[in-house]
Amino acid sequence: MMSINRSLVYGAVVAALGFGSAALAGEGHGHAPHWGYSGEAGPAAWGALDTNFKTCSVGKEQSPIDLKAAKNSELADVEIHYSEAPLNIVNNGHTIQVNFPEGNYATIGGVKYNLLQYHFHTTSEHTLDGQSFPLEAHLVHKTDDGKLGVIGVFMKEGAENPALAAVWENMPKEAGTVEKADIKINPAQLLPTTLTYYNYAGSLTTPPCSEGVNWMVMTTPVEVSSGQVQAFAAIFPQNNRPVQALNERTVLIEQ
Ligand SMILES: [Zn+2]
Repeated sequence: MMSINRSLVYGAVVAALGFGSAALAGEGHGHAPHWGYSGEAGPAAWGALDTNFKTCSVGKEQSPIDLKAAKNSELADVEIHYSEAPLNIVNNGHTIQVNFPEGNYATIGGVKYNLLQYHFHTTSEHTLDGQSFPLEAHLVHKTDDGKLGVIGVFMKEGAENPALAAVWENMPKEAGTVEKADIKINPAQLLPTTLTYYNYAGSLTTPPCSEGVNWMVMTTPVEVSSGQVQAFAAIFPQNNRPVQALNERTVLIEQ
């Protein structure tokens, strides 16, 4: 039973991502139900907008969460194998997403997670003992057998973040894609120098809210300037799902 459920979950995740790339190419949103971050199609209503979104309301392992009372544990190191890639940015109507080609991956506990894309939320989706940050980056990975792993990075206000410069200069203000082969970016520059993290089992933070996502939220925030926060907020004033109940889960942190 469990294995059937698992494959359904992963199938849904893959379908969600696959659908994403089609809709994200700017060809319109087809018959996909409209969802957003406020009003009648806001987070509290997601689960009722479409049968495929049901997990958003009935799921017991949902993301984001407030990270607190983490249990000391021996967590596997995150080993980064990212390299420069040509700039490919999508405004998908919900966030700014930067896509990466095959060959960029992280290894965590012997498992290879291939980097698909990173994107941003304002304000942060996870909170740290109740504290929110102006931005949060999500680096979305998938294993060869379809399991998702997301690295979250809190971004606090401070110095301008050079890793964002090329993305911010080129991000589409309306739904669509910008590709610039001559501009190269390295996703590793988005990460803090210390790769310790909070680890828990969660979900996608957008519909269909599929579970089975391995979350690694970095304990060390990186800096971003107020101007950079404002530039993102000018396109997406607010695109964060509220924190969800922890339920029976445990948040782990490196000893
Ligand atoms: Zn996200």
